[in-house]
Amino acid sequence: MRPVTPLTLPGMCWPLQASTGHLGVTTTLITGHFRAGAGQDAIVQCALVPAGKFRNGALRHWCRTHQHYWGTQADLADAQATQQRRCRQHASPMGYVLYPALFDPMQCHAATLRLDQDGMLQLRARADLGGALLVRDAPALAIDCRALSGVFHPDIVQLNITPPAAQAFAAALQAGVPLDCSDCARCGHPHLDLGSFAQAPHRRHTCGHCGHDASHSASAIVSTPLWRLRAFALRHPQRFAQCL
Ligand SMILES: [Zn+2]
Ligand SMILES: [Zn+2]
Repeated sequence: MRPVTPLTLPGMCWPLQASTGHLGVTTTLITGHFRAGAGQDAIVQCALVPAGKFRNGALRHWCRTHQHYWGTQADLADAQATQQRRCRQHASPMGYVLYPALFDPMQCHAATLRLDQDGMLQLRARADLGGALLVRDAPALAIDCRALSGVFHPDIVQLNITPPAAQAFAAALQAGVPLDCSDCARCGHPHLDLGSFAQAPHRRHTCGHCGHDASHSASAIVSTPLWRLRAFALRHPQRFAQCL
């Protein structure tokens, strides 16, 4: 295959299979190989951050991109051979959207955000300035968090509403599973449960931002930052008529 320089662009990506996720991002950019404006075949660069130690005492890292730990014997051997630190999922295709719609709830009113049966997010809102109707139908979109003071950790610039997160939230709501949003004891970022973890309430949560795996919620819950976004919407009925 011809080596191609990866591109760094505004975008969001998500693993196609994962039990955790990373919605509250500190950068709007992603770096990787993209064939189109959106799809399920992006190859995205790892974003490794120190994440304590494995049980055997070896240093451990967490890949925010692929939601996977790094630092096993096989990872170290790969790093030695390739002179690159990359997690075991580095070549796994990812879902992605480039230049996602970015919605700032503090500049609009009467917003409705719904997930339709085909998995499409439907956003409607009126701009405070001029009253123009904003209409967005997209598989994924981002909420601008910079003006939402106190809702999420202050270094979170936007909340990415990815298809797996929106679908897991809708399924958990429908199933009546106890939902809440628990923050990481180490970095303060919100936990996101996906897949089977979004169906079975539990107390111990792994952080998609820093890889800390020993935060405990007060009770057994399914954790998602979309729950907190929804709570924010309920507190601001002028801004939000409906939020997921
Ligand atoms: Zn990775
Ligand atoms: Zn964390």
